[in-house]
Amino acid sequence: MKKIVVKFGGSNLRQPQDIDRVINVVQTYNRPLVLVVSAFYGITNALIACVQSAKEGAGTKAALADSRDYTQTLRALKKEILEANIADPKHRAETEKALGLRLDQLERYLTGIHCIGDVPTFVNDAILSYGERLSSLLLTEVLLSRGIKAREALPEDIGLITDGVFGNSACDFTASTASVAQALNGDEIIVVPGFYGVDRDGKTTLFGRGGSDYSAASIARCIGAESLDVWKDVDGFLSADPGSVGAPRSIAQLNYLEAAELSYFGAKILHPRTVEPLFDQDIPIRILNITKPERGLQPYTVINAERTVTRDVVKSVSATDDVAILKLHGPGVGFKPGILAQVTNTLDQHDINIKSVLTAQTAINILLARDHLEAAYAAVAEHHVGGVVEVSKDDQVAIVAVVGDGVLHASGVGNGSDNSNGKGSAIASRALSAALAGGARVNLAAAGASEVAAYMLVHQEDKKLALQLVHAEFFGA
Ligand code: ASP
Ligand code: MG
Repeated sequence: MKKIVVKFGGSNLRQPQDIDRVINVVQTYNRPLVLVVSAFYGITNALIACVQSAKEGAGTKAALADSRDYTQTLRALKKEILEANIADPKHRAETEKALGLRLDQLERYLTGIHCIGDVPTFVNDAILSYGERLSSLLLTEVLLSRGIKAREALPEDIGLITDGVFGNSACDFTASTASVAQALNGDEIIVVPGFYGVDRDGKTTLFGRGGSDYSAASIARCIGAESLDVWKDVDGFLSADPGSVGAPRSIAQLNYLEAAELSYFGAKILHPRTVEPLFDQDIPIRILNITKPERGLQPYTVINAERTVTRDVVKSVSATDDVAILKLHGPGVGFKPGILAQVTNTLDQHDINIKSVLTAQTAINILLARDHLEAAYAAVAEHHVGGVVEVSKDDQVAIVAVVGDGVLHASGVGNGSDNSNGKGSAIASRALSAALAGGARVNLAAAGASEVAAYMLVHQEDKKLALQLVHAEFFGA
């Protein structure tokens, strides 16, 4: 029987009592599973802050004491979770000891930062993985304490090998598939910490923030899983962020492309690269809500290869302000060959990822992650690209995107009768008109790069307004 990979994230692990819900879900499946777990809610952020303060205060007694305080806090937190979840005192004491050993390792890494006054990237990745390492050990022991056959499997032990890029690695499937599949064989519940794999030397490399989804997807690919089930505390993918619009609808089905675009354009529900390992294997992703136990194992959203064009084409509207524009001005930049190549090379040398490029005769607009803007600006300004007379930057922007199969080709008249008039982008223009008519300041719009998505850049202050206007256009107020 094929296995299901089941992922529990930080939103499922906020309080000691949450573990009960996780155990109930595992029991409901009543079959062998691979569980991939994130750190408890907020732990990764706290570890990041801890690394930062250790670095800043390196060498000072106060900073060293702060690090110790933090690991002490973690010890207390884990103890509280154990007390709420493992009844047998002996088993509880053994688990506390095992967790203590991991916390000692963490403390040694933090002490190392104090000694050398720097955080090498491999140390950073190792430290941040401890949130997950604590979760997986703890959950395995709680499962055992409830009489469920379970074992923990660490990425370094199962051979989940990455490309070795610290902070933002990808899985190397050629190196991983056979060993992971073999190591995760067996009919017990196997618990794997998410968020990291190891390079060929065995060093921890992270999959980027929110990377446990990607861990789970990679493992699902390696073992040829029946599905990847991602448990959340919301009703799956929604037509918009519930914090921004009144009553967003839940989306029953998305294809891989739509899910990838939505995540890329700001939907927080899945790591943007989650579909990558799965789409050519036809392994579905099912999103379930742990706060609705009455639904059992029925997902809210299923992501698979199926393509459906709905009546109003747009399935969801997403927004993000993790974007900024680097602008290269010059009277002929649109004409002159080679400019873009020089700029992209320069950015590539500085490890800066380009999100999108929009050009005209007198300006090239490069969209980047907000964090990369200053470095990109400095690199390009220093490089003096011929033909570019001025470089400017704008971080007062946000992206609003409409996503749905047919965004590029459907007529978008909303009567469901004509999806083939070939005019293209009617959906994008409907979205754009709605935003403009409602007074949102739009800087740029783009359609056509993806078959299933179109987006506009708006003034950052108008992000919510534009999202609401566009959502109302396709879904009603
Ligand atoms: N704990 C990690 C993070 O917060 C990974 C994850 O949650 O998926 O980014
Ligand atoms: Mg997450």
